[in-house]
Amino acid sequence: MKIICIGRNYADHAKELKNDLPTEPVIFMKPKSALLLPEKPIYYPEFTKDLHFECEVVVKIDKNGTHVQEKFANKYYSEITLGIDFTARDIQREQQKKGLPWEIAKAFNGSAAVGNFVPLSDTLNIDDLDFQLKLNDSVVQDGHTRDMIFNIDKIIAYASQFFTLNIGDLIFTGTPAGVGPVKIGDKLEGYLQGNKVLDVDVK
Ligand code: MG
Repeated sequence: MKIICIGRNYADHAKELKNDLPTEPVIFMKPKSALLLPEKPIYYPEFTKDLHFECEVVVKIDKNGTHVQEKFANKYYSEITLGIDFTARDIQREQQKKGLPWEIAKAFNGSAAVGNFVPLSDTLNIDDLDFQLKLNDSVVQDGHTRDMIFNIDKIIAYASQFFTLNIGDLIFTGTPAGVGPVKIGDKLEGYLQGNKVLDVDVK
């Protein structure tokens, strides 16, 4: 499986990192080794001094497809959760400054934390979802999927031109404003429509 991630997909977050708004989805990948399964802790990596959380809606692909048309994209997923796109912000800044790829800042072991998947339904519509991240019981990110620049169907249509989607692939759909650093001992909890789906301790 692969993990496809979208950067700068919420205007308020692009602004907080002083990035321009994209005209096409910004895509990067994480390998399978980046996956951090539900309830597992992340161990603060030694190579960074500025590990950041980015809470994101995560979509699980459940049908193989390439060149998927946007109007059929909703046939390719049925479950979602929240995840954390852990980012070594200091390394990312260095890499960006040098014009180098991001992988060592974004795709390291444990950098793709996921919560428990829940099925989409008439009452859980992916384009109309509230989500929150709490850091040690305080809400630090509060997003709504309607604020995505590119919604999930547009992302699937765009990404599948380049990469065949396979059953089990995950798509991290981008983070709203409010990203910030964690330290050892912190507790992150993600809520989708008020229900807790994600729990990650920093060790
Ligand atoms: Mg992100």
